[in-house]
Amino acid sequence: MEPRKSRRVRIGGVDMGGGAGITVQTMTRSRVEEVEGSLAEIRAAAASGADLVRLAVPNPAAAGYFGRIAARSPLPLVADTHFDWRTTLAAIREGAAKVRVNPGNMDPDGLARVAEAAGVRGIPIRVGGNSGSVRRSGEGADSPLSELLAQETLTWAARLEELGFRDTVISVKASEAAVTVRAYRLVAAQSDYPLHLGLTAAGPRESSLLKSAAAIGSLLLDGIGDSIRFSFTGDAAGEVAAGRDLLRALALRREGVEIISCPACGRSRVELPELAREAREALGHIRSPLRVAIMGCEVNGPGEAGDADLGLAPGGGAVHLFIRGRVVEKLPPDRAIARLAEEAERLGGESR
Ligand code: SF4
Repeated sequence: MEPRKSRRVRIGGVDMGGGAGITVQTMTRSRVEEVEGSLAEIRAAAASGADLVRLAVPNPAAAGYFGRIAARSPLPLVADTHFDWRTTLAAIREGAAKVRVNPGNMDPDGLARVAEAAGVRGIPIRVGGNSGSVRRSGEGADSPLSELLAQETLTWAARLEELGFRDTVISVKASEAAVTVRAYRLVAAQSDYPLHLGLTAAGPRESSLLKSAAAIGSLLLDGIGDSIRFSFTGDAAGEVAAGRDLLRALALRREGVEIISCPACGRSRVELPELAREAREALGHIRSPLRVAIMGCEVNGPGEAGDADLGLAPGGGAVHLFIRGRVVEKLPPDRAIARLAEEAERLGGESR
């Protein structure tokens, strides 16, 4: 399907929308007052391939800490602010590259102040609707949740347009995949705002991975979405890795190593999950597009993974290193991962 044509906004040095490619985001877990802890999370997220990181800024005093972090951050930072427009203004002053607000819980006059300040600074505002904050009273309150979510969020975006502000990004998150997908489809059909995709309260890692991949993946395959976040109860860098895995699986971004592996069968004599995990960790820093196969046996492995750039296949007390289906070296098992990493860096033209 043709990708939806969205308008483009700029967040720090990162373009979003208008065919700029899908960005991957996450959010820190540290309190913003924990400057070093926040920076460590941001650096780990950057190493995993994040394009943007969001931090919760709960009050105007916290904005000062946000500014100290932004001054040293390797990535543009988004300030997540709620309720008090003064907090949003303070975060803008302190160097936010984008702010996320939920206008439903903000004083209307405050929204005008935020629109003015963001306009002067040339930064986007994400109108982040989510199922927990949708108004369930007044006209249309008995509509399906996805419609309420889409309409309320579009109404706030229209209010920003009336205020002369156009660099709006929209998200409409629910914790159910089907509700979320319907809400985004409704917004996509009625506007050209760049869309940040994700679910809210998506759950622990394992359940969120499936739910988020189903929801975000189905939207992306329909050409809807400009930015994604896999949110789960876990670490920020892990969210980024999951997001990038999805984009690679959908062939929407190709940088980084894709690990493929066989399911293993009676021919395998190794702990294949462990070997695949070690390979993933050892190659996580490589940004070149490489397909690396971790196969369970040397008899069929290199052939079955003939379309991989390189790989490992243990057997006969050694680990066979193969490049494009051809075995090039037999390695002692304790050298296998290190040699794989060396070869991957060579093929990718990269070094640590
Ligand atoms: S590569 Fe070897 S271990 Fe893996 S599924 Fe094929 S035959 Fe079985």
